[in-house]
Amino acid sequence: MKTYLVGGAVRDKLLGLPVKEHDWVVVGATPDELTALGYRRVGQDFPVFLHPDTKEEYALARTERKTGPGYKGFDVDFSGSITLEEDLKRRDLTVNAIAEDEDGNLIDPFGGQADLNKRILRHVSDAFVEDPVRLLRLARFLARFADLGFTIAPETGSLMTTMVKNGEIDNLVPERVWQELQKALNETRAENFFDALQQCGALERLFPQIHPEQAALAQQALIQACSLSKDAEIRFAAWLGCASENSISAICEQLRAPKSYQELALLTGKYQHFFEKSTQLPPPDILEGLQAVDAFRRPERFEKYLLAAEAVTRAKTGQPDWPHPQREYLYNASKQAMAITAKDLTKTNLSGPALAAELSKHRQAAISKIKRPYRWSKLR
Ligand code: ATP
Ligand code: MG
Repeated sequence: MKTYLVGGAVRDKLLGLPVKEHDWVVVGATPDELTALGYRRVGQDFPVFLHPDTKEEYALARTERKTGPGYKGFDVDFSGSITLEEDLKRRDLTVNAIAEDEDGNLIDPFGGQADLNKRILRHVSDAFVEDPVRLLRLARFLARFADLGFTIAPETGSLMTTMVKNGEIDNLVPERVWQELQKALNETRAENFFDALQQCGALERLFPQIHPEQAALAQQALIQACSLSKDAEIRFAAWLGCASENSISAICEQLRAPKSYQELALLTGKYQHFFEKSTQLPPPDILEGLQAVDAFRRPERFEKYLLAAEAVTRAKTGQPDWPHPQREYLYNASKQAMAITAKDLTKTNLSGPALAAELSKHRQAAISKIKRPYRWSKLR
């Protein structure tokens, strides 16, 4: 039995990047032998095990043969006779198909190092088209590595288009789309994920709710969000912020996005107009808007909304460098309004609706004292 380091760890080490997790492949062993050594089996479909001490992933060398549609339509062979080369051949990209033995020797049958040097993401074999998750992974790697100069090999790009045209893409399950999309949102150049998917026609197939003209705006909003924040929720909300409320709901549901993502995306879409116009609105409307976005009870979410809405505004104006004073203004307005509470009005002896009305009056007065940004005064 021999063990090799494979996948992202080898790739990232060769790129001089920090290695976060180690994936291993085991050649010449059976599941029973690994279990006897204390490894714990975790993979249901594939023979993947956790190391008894390090808990790192060890996969038995395997081959895969497509037998039917969908991601379960694979015949997996992990008999002890599968070689390292055979295992590397079933991997997605050449840069992910380099192995390192215990002595640090690299085994690289598909030219992964050459492609790393050339900064090219290239499929290992034509079996690439058999698993639609690879489309998403490739797009995600572009989001991660575009800054290093990586591009997709033209022949790999053609395969991506093929997978869209032949309907392989329709076999993706929502969980995997969300998983890859969320990982992509955390990458420095998240927009490249959507860009790569758009180029091969996958984006409109996955998200028919986003019209092609909107896709360009969504892309710009995402770029702006990435420069404003590292938070994946904010980036997601900005990406969807130009879409209709119905589309946002539909996409979130289709993706089974976590509730916090759904909430922020919907809030951003629904109150985008409020954000954009805020510096021109009178104090009662500001207070009403702040209450509608639940700024007083959900201040953290409110601040995320402000960032997402600013990203969308920058994209819509096409002038990202202009001053966009809304965020600062609304933030100050919420702080000033929140500083006044019912306790401050105990002297008035009011209660119920009368107290609420008095509170609003005082909060509006506090808001009206905030210096308006110049754009507001100019428009008035
Ligand atoms: P990351 O840095 O995101 O972990 P990674 O390349 O290590 O990137 P993993 O999901 O950890 O990605 O997978 C480990 C390795 O398994 C990959 O490098 C690749 O060789 C192989 N692999 C993973 N998923 C697939 C797939 N869907 N098709 C083919 N090979 C895959
Ligand atoms: Mg990995």
